[in-house]
Amino acid sequence: MMKRVTIVLLLLLLAVIPSSCTSPSESGRMRVVVSIQPLAWFAERIAGDLAEVRVMVPPGGNPHTYEPLPRQMRMLAETAFFVKAGSGVEFEIDWMERFMTLNPSLTVYDAARGVALLPMAAGHGHQHGSSVFRYDPHYWLAPRNGMLIADTIAGAFSKEDPQNSALYRENARRLKEELEELDAFIRGRLQGLGNRSFLVFHPAWGYFAHAYGLHQIAAEEEGKSLTPRQMERVILQAREAGITVVFVSPQFSTAQAETIARGIGGVTRSVDPLAFSYDENLRAVTAAFLEGGR
Ligand SMILES: [Zn+2]
Repeated sequence: MMKRVTIVLLLLLLAVIPSSCTSPSESGRMRVVVSIQPLAWFAERIAGDLAEVRVMVPPGGNPHTYEPLPRQMRMLAETAFFVKAGSGVEFEIDWMERFMTLNPSLTVYDAARGVALLPMAAGHGHQHGSSVFRYDPHYWLAPRNGMLIADTIAGAFSKEDPQNSALYRENARRLKEELEELDAFIRGRLQGLGNRSFLVFHPAWGYFAHAYGLHQIAAEEEGKSLTPRQMERVILQAREAGITVVFVSPQFSTAQAETIARGIGGVTRSVDPLAFSYDENLRAVTAAFLEGGR
């Protein structure tokens, strides 16, 4: 009798202890946390129903300045693994160490693995602490890099949940096919672009520009407001390049961008470097650049 009670208690105890490598949520799905929204799209495409994906920097949040909430810190304890952007996004530079100190068993995968990071355009270093990061962190905005992200995330799921490895690999294969089509679509559309220079407030489109032979002119530096003198310089540069659109993003104030737009007799137009629906978003961005460069 005693023995049976002990066994039942033991079984109950075992039932509440999470397994070491996969942490199931109430729904029984693996829990995964990623830094930014586009990475959540990749993780969901790779894992389908097998995982519940959470994002650290929420919609509208700015990864260059975001600070996680206490409940997000707690959520890391129930996470099978974490996928970071890995390219020098300030949020990660400021917080990754703390995440790992608080959760020593947390496995972190680097989505930038294998990606050739580009240097920031001259004078546009993203600053963190006392040194200036020399790479442009926004690599996910080129579909060719998206293909590498797909492989890295499929590798992460396969490692953490080897049983379903074939499914993750197959989903990645399909996703990469789609991204190849997306790349060809964008290339085709932008071939006929009249003005290949474009002006952005925050310089998030360097990889996109590099992939499709465009020239990004950036207004803002290191997230700081522009001085009147810098504003004047940007307006002159934009006029010389025949630019009539200032691209803005939802994560940044548009006040100065609007002043620049008035200065060149143009308009502002929003393009989102952090949208969840990666494929749809890059098609919309392509259309915006096409219109802006007519
Ligand atoms: Zn940025």
